[in-house]
Amino acid sequence: MSLDELYRRVIMDHYQKPRNRGRIEEGSVTVDLNNPTCGDRISIQMHVDEGKIREAKFLGEGCSISMASASMMTEAVKDLTLEEALHLVDLFSKMVQGEEVDPDEFPLEDIEALQGISKFPARIKCATLAWKALEKGVKEAADQG
Ligand code: ZN
Repeated sequence: MSLDELYRRVIMDHYQKPRNRGRIEEGSVTVDLNNPTCGDRISIQMHVDEGKIREAKFLGEGCSISMASASMMTEAVKDLTLEEALHLVDLFSKMVQGEEVDPDEFPLEDIEALQGISKFPARIKCATLAWKALEKGVKEAADQG
């Protein structure tokens, strides 16, 4: 199996069996974002406690890239501090824009499967949608103290 094929399978697995899809009863932060160029819509919720993301969930609809990326994001941020989460957003956005990043820095190996997106500039917004929502949510959580 080629690396591209392997990555494609990881992405489809997250798309077909999304992790953390749903709502959090007492989510402290909710962010809704969309990507009009592709029609992707996402709503993420996070439960932040003592400066750490305890849980993150999402709802939405859109292409396989946007939904798989949201699934990976909600899985990856669990138990990260707000600062660590922002660092991860930065790292992810560098990766999908084709910059060299250290894959060991990702708390979830599956995220690497999206690195090929850098070859398809039109899809970069699909891949980063959930991460932009995360970034916004983290900033709101930080403001709430
Ligand atoms: Zn899309």
